[in-house]
Amino acid sequence: MRIVYYPDPVLLKPAATLEAVPEDLATILEGMRHVMKLERGIGLAAPQVGLSLRIILVSETGEEGDEQVLINPEIVKFEGKKEWGEEGCLSFPGIWGEVLRHERVVVRYRDESFAECEMKAEELLARVLQHEIDHLDGKVFVAKMRESDRIRNKARLQELRDNFETLQA
Ligand SMILES: [Zn+2]
Repeated sequence: MRIVYYPDPVLLKPAATLEAVPEDLATILEGMRHVMKLERGIGLAAPQVGLSLRIILVSETGEEGDEQVLINPEIVKFEGKKEWGEEGCLSFPGIWGEVLRHERVVVRYRDESFAECEMKAEELLARVLQHEIDHLDGKVFVAKMRESDRIRNKARLQELRDNFETLQA
């Protein structure tokens, strides 16, 4: 398992909803945890490792063992103001920019045993959840970036597209 980079098509299409716990869930999560630790991420969505499934990992601290698994996560409530905040993404190395996100969210999801759960999050965790759940819908943060940041990152984005083409050739 490794990180998939933009513009790999798996990042740009909606991921599949899980009907039950997949048989290989433990293997999937082990791989995702490993990648997240290696890359020092605070969030990771399954499409980012090439799996078109609605599974995300989030961690408030980035510490090992702190990550939470959310299957089929869905934002059921957006709360508070919308705030600009800087984001990066493991699938977009070298790109950072400000994105407008809600201050607080309520997320409904299934845990590792497929039990229905709900989580309230604010500040950084709320931002990470919105970013990762967007991945499951095939939405990437550069599309929501502040105009000036998009312009600033334009050359780097083109570089990622060129690299991807070279790898496909
Ligand atoms: Zn991302």
